[in-house]
Amino acid sequence: MATSNSYRKLSMAAFAVEAVPLLGQAPLSDLPRLSDEAVRAASDCTVHFHALGSMRTDASGIAVPWLALQGRVEMDLVCQRCLEPVSTLVHFDREFRFVESEEAALAQDEDSEEDLLVSSPQFDLLELVEDELLMALPVSPKHEKCPGDLKLSAADADFEAASERPSPFAKLAQLKASKG
Ligand SMILES: [Zn+2]
Repeated sequence: MATSNSYRKLSMAAFAVEAVPLLGQAPLSDLPRLSDEAVRAASDCTVHFHALGSMRTDASGIAVPWLALQGRVEMDLVCQRCLEPVSTLVHFDREFRFVESEEAALAQDEDSEEDLLVSSPQFDLLELVEDELLMALPVSPKHEKCPGDLKLSAADADFEAASERPSPFAKLAQLKASKG
């Protein structure tokens, strides 16, 4: 199996021309900025990604490299309601167009709807996967039902049962009323 490092030195030009899909995976620990967001040391979490390069003709008839990239990882984040770990699927699916240089990217970025990347003979695909997963992190991760909710609702049920019992004072009031 390819090591994570082999995803960090891709020739994007060749990758786009060959157009062979790349199915990759890396341990979350190889993506340090992302794994910092995980609750516990995520030694057994795996980041999966799928990359496909292609050459597409732009408006001026020139073939330019594109990259379609999807990535996902299931990791434990901190639930913003109960502060316990909540297992969360983080994923993205995006397309990028490559440009020759930083200048070209800046010049085209304003009137471009597309996401631009600067082409490089040693493109770090794993870093791009990490960037995209970081951006895809939920702002406020929460359990659908927090584990603590179970205890809370059990306590609620007790409380309701108690309040349904007629209170001793109500009985007393009834007695007084009947003696009139
Ligand atoms: Zn929770």
